[in-house]
Amino acid sequence: MDRKTFIQSLGILALTPSAMQLNELRKLADGFKSTPKMPVLFIGHGNPMNAIEENSFTKGWRDITKKIPTPNAILVISAHWETKGTYVTAMEKPKTIYDMYGFPQELYEVKYDCPGSPELAGIIKENANKANVHLDHSWGLDHGTWSVLVKMYPDANIPVLQLSIDRFQNAQYHYDLAKELEVLRNKGVLIIGSGNIVHNLRYASFAIDPKPYDWAVEFDEKAKELILSKEHNSLINYQDLGTAAQLSIPTPEHYLPLLYILAQQQNEDKVEFFNEEMAFASGSMRSIIIGQ
Ligand code: ZN
Repeated sequence: MDRKTFIQSLGILALTPSAMQLNELRKLADGFKSTPKMPVLFIGHGNPMNAIEENSFTKGWRDITKKIPTPNAILVISAHWETKGTYVTAMEKPKTIYDMYGFPQELYEVKYDCPGSPELAGIIKENANKANVHLDHSWGLDHGTWSVLVKMYPDANIPVLQLSIDRFQNAQYHYDLAKELEVLRNKGVLIIGSGNIVHNLRYASFAIDPKPYDWAVEFDEKAKELILSKEHNSLINYQDLGTAAQLSIPTPEHYLPLLYILAQQQNEDKVEFFNEEMAFASGSMRSIIIGQ
């Protein structure tokens, strides 16, 4: 092939969209049109090592996807992206972020090469009236997102976005902001909160099969009760729920993703729990599907 023909063939290649590009074009044309209401998920993510292990938790994550229609896109509120102000990732190709230290090299080789969706980021910005949601071009996917998605949707062919947690706002702000995102459920978007209802690393035990602390079990069960009776106000004002709550939520970032999910709950939505187990004695892996 001479140089001219070669350059011409490159031109033809560049003009021929790949299957993935065609999919993207189709999605843009659809403009995230209306779909039946998607369920929402809270995932207790726990140890990042779950990304490369197979255990009862990862099985629970994988199994739950069988109950959910294939999403048009996934929006994750991860405990591991705290910011001043609220941001949504708006890049075409979010990068995998290794925001954890001291783990085996194998974990740092996990890549979750999914597309993003600047279009959906724009829709989220438009729908949030109470908060000024900024478009972000520098974050990506932290381990709160990829360590679970690599098990739930291993093909990484669904666009994924993250919404940050503004650490300067109170719990009510997060719940109210989440309410404004409800419209996404009707656009085929799967909203996932990724954190842990009980998360106190200071008391974590690395013994084999450690007995969970009484306060951890007490608050995990209390949270379950309040979720089932839809007492969201009590869950928003978790600081008034006593010592067990204070020990279970020493800092709010792993708990707040739960409020983003509860805010989506409609009267007709069913609530189911899975992975109802404790890990490291001071963490709850409790995960929730609402509205399946
Ligand atoms: Zn975490």
